[in-house]
Amino acid sequence: MALPKVDAAFAPANLDAIVGPTRIPRMSRSPDHIIRPAILALSAYHVPPASGMVKLDAMENPYSLPPGVRDEIARLAADAPINRYPDASGAALKAALRESLAIPPGLEIMLGNGSDEIIQIIALACAKPGATLMGVEPSFVMFRMIATFAGMDYVGVPLNADFSLNLDATLEAIARRQPAVIFIAYPNNPTGNLFDDEAISRIIEAAPGVVVVDEAYHAFADASFMDRLAQHPNLLLMRTLSKQGLAGLRLGLLLGRPEWLIQLEKVRLPYNVGVVTQLIAEKVLKHRDILLQQAAAIKCERAVISQRLAAMESVDAFPTDANFILFRVNEAGQVFQSLKKRGVLIKNLDGSHPLLKNCLRVTVGTPEENILFLAALQASLPQSNAKFGANG
Ligand code: PMP
Repeated sequence: MALPKVDAAFAPANLDAIVGPTRIPRMSRSPDHIIRPAILALSAYHVPPASGMVKLDAMENPYSLPPGVRDEIARLAADAPINRYPDASGAALKAALRESLAIPPGLEIMLGNGSDEIIQIIALACAKPGATLMGVEPSFVMFRMIATFAGMDYVGVPLNADFSLNLDATLEAIARRQPAVIFIAYPNNPTGNLFDDEAISRIIEAAPGVVVVDEAYHAFADASFMDRLAQHPNLLLMRTLSKQGLAGLRLGLLLGRPEWLIQLEKVRLPYNVGVVTQLIAEKVLKHRDILLQQAAAIKCERAVISQRLAAMESVDAFPTDANFILFRVNEAGQVFQSLKKRGVLIKNLDGSHPLLKNCLRVTVGTPEENILFLAALQASLPQSNAKFGANG
């Protein structure tokens, strides 16, 4: 088939004649001139290569599903109508979530392509000129990054040295900055602890805008703000299936009163959750027993690792209610590199926040992976008996 003729005026050789130095200076077409300064100043979220490593860096569930469930998934995927757009309302999946998570009647659900996307939807919807998004620090870095993507101002209120909420400082910052949105991770990432629930309630009551309690690690903690949704009209609750074995599917959800979710739904792109994700998530949610068993196994292994870390001379492990453990060593950078050389990938948080000096974070893996990690850590620790103080 003959290709259509390209008009000579639009051939690349003539581009300069159209938009070249005389009309639009070349310089002004460069990304530096076009992209917002706040984006130019950002570093991209770094995901390190992990092929062939014992991968304990990203809070994934290390267990796969039993063969019977995988067969069911294979059949669903084979028959999935991938030539069609997904159900934009995700009705069947929402019904399965409602049952599986015991979502109280009267609350609406919004689905996201991971909870990352839900943070983005909330920020986009609330980003009036000059509006502020507030978090505590250290916490999930995406709160700050997405505030920047959306053009919001960001305020991070430092936690206390033991990673508890500094309630006075937070209330003071709320009064001064009047944030449109506050994100609180419960349990917190990367510290692993649950903040005091009464302190969070005080923050919700003092907030002039909406407070999102991010329960990404809920499966490993015996606490939730679900029951408080009825009490606080400005509270939203976020969950994800990522930490429960479905990180690759990308499914997050937001729960809240209809008056909030009706508005946020306007910003959600209609087909953000794909056909295959909807079908598989709905199926896996029906096997609640398996998800609960896996979470219980992770909690048991968490206790084993915590005990072993506590017994190591030069390691300070922090209490955790999540599927990961934050710990402090001497020379975290060297220990991290040495673990990597031994084939174990964890997360180095040294340098990311003053409170995280010399801190590393390990995700709980399978018993075999955890043994490999502990042995590699023992071999990587500097030969020093000195146990250090709270701030390294
Ligand atoms: N919230 C917190 C506190 C997290 O740690 C993470 C992932 N690390 C997320 C949200 C995002 O999870 P996802 O997008 O996979 O749902």
